Order: sequence, then structure tokens, then C-alpha cells
Amino acid sequence: MNPKHMKFRLWLIFALVIVVPSFVLSFLALRTNLVEEAVIEKQLEEIVDKELQNITSIVKDELKKIETELVSLLESAFHSKEKLNLISQRSRLIDIPFFLNTQKDILWPNRSQTLTADDEKFLKWHREFFKDKESTPVFKNIAFVYKDIILEETYASSSYIGRKLNSVKNSKAPVDDIENQLALQQFESDVRVRSKVYKKARMDKQQLATRNVESTKGFGQQKRYNQKFQPRQSKFVSEAVLFSDIISQSNSGIIPKLVEERLQLLFWSKNQKGEIVGCIINREEMIEHIVKMLPDAQIYSKERIITILDELGQPLIAPKEGVKHDWRSPFIAHELSVYLPHWEVAAYLTDPNSILTRANTKVILIGFVVYGLVLSIVMGGIFVLRSMYEQVLLAQQKTTFVANVSHELKTPLTSIRMFAEMLKENRQPDEKKRRHYLDIMVSESERLTRLINNVLDFASLGQKNKRYHFAIVDIVELCKDVVEGQRPRLEHNGFQITFKSRHKHLEISVDSESIKQVLLNLLSNAENYSDDEKSIELEIDDDDKDVYIYVKDLGIGISSKFKDKIFDEFYRVDDQLTSRKSGTGLGLTIAQRIMKDHHGAIDYISREQKGSIFRINIPKQEV
Ligand code: ADP
Repeated sequence: MNPKHMKFRLWLIFALVIVVPSFVLSFLALRTNLVEEAVIEKQLEEIVDKELQNITSIVKDELKKIETELVSLLESAFHSKEKLNLISQRSRLIDIPFFLNTQKDILWPNRSQTLTADDEKFLKWHREFFKDKESTPVFKNIAFVYKDIILEETYASSSYIGRKLNSVKNSKAPVDDIENQLALQQFESDVRVRSKVYKKARMDKQQLATRNVESTKGFGQQKRYNQKFQPRQSKFVSEAVLFSDIISQSNSGIIPKLVEERLQLLFWSKNQKGEIVGCIINREEMIEHIVKMLPDAQIYSKERIITILDELGQPLIAPKEGVKHDWRSPFIAHELSVYLPHWEVAAYLTDPNSILTRANTKVILIGFVVYGLVLSIVMGGIFVLRSMYEQVLLAQQKTTFVANVSHELKTPLTSIRMFAEMLKENRQPDEKKRRHYLDIMVSESERLTRLINNVLDFASLGQKNKRYHFAIVDIVELCKDVVEGQRPRLEHNGFQITFKSRHKHLEISVDSESIKQVLLNLLSNAENYSDDEKSIELEIDDDDKDVYIYVKDLGIGISSKFKDKIFDEFYRVDDQLTSRKSGTGLGLTIAQRIMKDHHGAIDYISREQKGSIFRINIPKQEV
């Protein structure tokens, strides 16, 4: 195959097998990398979410504890105003104690006694409610209210949850609780379910509260800071319920009431007769109880701050000085409890840019690795293809070499045989012509010998087992002999050959047969690659260190881009002028190896106008 075609084919393979796939892969890798911010945010969200859930259950437990504490505190206070007074003075949890008879008349605080301003307010706010003349909104988790819809939806869409429900139904926990939990999980994780439930709630005219906060997660960096505050829907729905309905369901409880936009927690406890003691829970004390349960370690970390926001969106736990937050825009937040409507447990990132910075660092790092890999694949590919190309080229050159050698052997053999037969049969009576035939036969057999020597030498030089017999030789004499040996043939072929030397004698140590071979190769090339101007010159020169031998011709010359390649094994200049001449591509390779073994060198010097100069130099110190 033509080397140009082969090169094109190799480049095509390179592009299809290496470049395109590695660029596609790196593009995909980097594209995946670009969603890194979302991935890091999601991981962080999962961690923070668990922390918030933990805090939510701590707060819920604390409320339960407060309720139990109040039940036992006020147990003994039925009927005894003095005791009620005493207990309320002793416990800071009790703000305004009250006592109702079975008809829900307020026996304490009562207008017949001297009342404080707070007592007056209490009566104003709650009297009608206790008498069932007013209702109060009671909050319920929307997922519990619509659990049937949620579970039905889930059953239909996912057999997994269905199976899960069946399996937990067999466990010991109350079925209601399990169903509630599953419904809540599904409600929180599935947007489709969530919107369906909200739609149903609106159709049922349920009171849907709005939240004080809007999470910042899931927004791009730009949006995060520019977006407007948009309250999101609460997961609690409220239903207007009468006091008697509330107390009919258990023996004690806490009723959250929004009074003048502030949350008041009304504790009540019922005895067997149906009388009721209770109190307004002291807000500060309750907050203190809750905050005490949340050590600093849970609130502050390097990455985020967690706090609880009250119904006005104010933090119960203020951060360390100097840190200011937009409390309404937490990273994520959860509503706390049906007893604390509008309260949120919320987490804020200490450095909102950290996610982006972390993502960027990772992207840059992965980018480096990916591009590094692509680079090394491409470089490796180029390297492999180059050596493949060289191997294929060498194989091709070897094939051409075999063809060339056969041709080179055949030509002189044919002419020797032809002239030998003519002489044998005495077909040429002319003595002069007979001599000429013999000359041709000698020169052709010399050509054969040179060729065979070259091939043999090439093998032995390659295996480094060529034997040299160094001896002190008069190099001027040696060159003259070679020129004179070639003169008759060259002149007969129309060449003019000159020999020049500044010295009559120059003695150096060489292997004379090898040097002769080098010179014969150079002269044969000069003859072979000359066209119209048939002139060859051999010149000897020297300096302190070296002896120089120049072989000059006025032939076709060699373009400078091939000037180093011509010494490569089997290499033949691939142009129209050269390809007309026969050759094996070994002559200069052998000459170079022989010169190296003489610690000398052979160079090509291009001539300004036409032709070539080959210069060999042999160091003198070998003498
Ligand atoms: P070849 O048997 O082909 O002559 P060589 O190793 O002697 O092998 O030469 C290698 C190539 O260098 C040749 O094929 C030819 O293209 C180029 N070359 C060598 N000597 C000459 C010269 N005197 N003039 C022009 N080209 C030359």
C-alpha cells in the first residue's frame, strides 16, 4: 500500500478508536460533573434532615414531659384554690392556673375574687371557648387526615409500599400508627402525592396554613440570593373544634391557641367527675425546657446552624455574635408539632457558597484527571500508531528489498551469461570487442560481488559480529587504487572521474577492505544517480584530528528533507528520479555502520546547484 494511504488509514483508525471515544467519554464525565453541586447539596440535605428530625423528636418528647409534669403537679389541686395557688407559685411552668366545674364554668380565676390584669385577659380570651360558644382550630398532620388517599395512591402505583404495608400490619405496633407513618413518608417524598392531597384538602375547604420559611435548597447559586420569599404550604391542616369535643377524647392535653398572634399553650387535666384544672403554660419556661435539651454541639457545627423559629419566625436560639441570617430562608426546615403550629426547626448553612466551592473544587479535580487521562490516551495512541506505522513501513521496505535484490542479481548475471555464451561460441571475431565483452563481464561480476558483500555485511553488521582487521594503511594510496579500479568502467560509461589530494601519503589505521567497500558504494551511487552531467570527483583532505574523503557528483542530488533518512536501512528516496534507478537501500546504511565502527562518520552535504557530496571522516589518533 502507498505509505500516504497507509498513513491516512492509520489516522482514521486513530480518530475513530481513540480520539472520538475518549473525547465523548470525557465530555460525558464532565457533564455529569456539572450536576455535582446538586449531588453535594443532596448529601448535605440528607445529613441535616436527620439532625432536624432528631431535634423534632426531642422537642415533642419535651412537650410530653411538660404535660406529664403538669398532670402530676395539678392532680391534687382540684377544688382547692389555695393549693392551686401554692402549686402555681412553686412551678414556673404555670402561668395562669384555672379550674372549671363540670358545667365548664370558670371557678378560678373568677370575678368574685380580686383579679390581676393577666387574669382579666385570660377570662376575656377563653371564657367563651370553655363554654363551647367559640371553637378553636386544632391542627392535624395532613398526611394523617388523608392517609387513605395516600395509601390508595401508593398501593396502585407501587407494589413495594403495598407489600411493606402488609408486612408491617402484622407487627405489634398499632395499625393506625404504621399507616400514619407510611402515609407521612409517602407524602413527604412524592411530589405527585403531595399535590393531590393539597388539592383534595382545598376541595374539602380545609384551613391550609402557610409557613414562615422558604427553603433555599435546590436553587441555583444565582436564584438562591435573588429569589423572593414565597411561603410554602404547611403540612398541617386545622379544623375548628369545640372545647367539649377536645376534652371528650382524653384525660389531659395541651391546646395551642393563637391569641393576638402569639401562641398560647393551654394545659388541661380532667378528673373522673369531669371537673377540669389547667393552666396557661409559661412560654419562657417552656422554651427554657426545650433549649436545655439542645446542647450547643447539636446547634452549631462548622457547616450549619440549627435553630427553632417561633410563630413569628423569630429564633429561640440566637447564633453566636456576628452571624446574621435571613431567618426566613433556611437551607431546610421542618414544622415542629401540631402543638406548636407555625414553629419550625430550621437549619442554615454557615457558608452558603461552600457547596458551590466544594463542587467547583471537585469539578476542577475531576476535570484535571479526565483531561490528563485523555491526553495520555491520545499520546499513547499516537505512540502506538507511530510505531505501527514504522513497523508496517519496514515490512513494506523489506518486501521491496527482496524484489530489488532479485532484480539486482538478475541483471548482472544475465549480461555475464550472455557475453560468456557469445565468447564461448566464438561469435565475435573482433578482438577489440571481445576484450570489451570481458571488461563488461568483470565489471558486472564486481557489481555482483559488491551487492552480495553488502547483503552479507548488512546481516553481520546488524548482529554486531563483523570482524575488522585494522592496520596502518596509506589512505591516499587506497583511494587512488579504488578510483583507478573504477576508472575504465566509469569512463566507458561516459563519466569523467578525478582524484585530488593535498598529500602524497597519509597513514591511518583502518580496515582497508571495509573502507574500500564504503568508497565503492559511494562511487556506485554517484554513478547510479547521475543523469546528463557525468562527473565524479574523489578528494582527500585533513586537519589535525581527521582525514576527510569527499565523493562528489553532479547528479540528481537529494532533497534536504531526506538527508538523514537515506542512512536508514532499506530506505530509498521515493521520487520519480530515484525510482527509475535500481538499488537495495543498504549501501549508505552499511557505510554509516562501518564508519561508526571506525569512530568516524559519514555525512551528506548538499551542493548549492546540482549534485551531492558525501563526506566521510576517519580520526587520525587511531594510528
Ligand atoms: P541504494 O541501493 O538505493 O542506492 P543507498 O543506501 O546506497 O541505497 O542509498 C539510499 C538512497 O539515497 C538512494 O536510494 C538514493 O535515493 C539516495 N542516494 C544515495 N546516494 C545518492 C547520490 N549520490 N545522489 C542522489 N541520491 C543518492
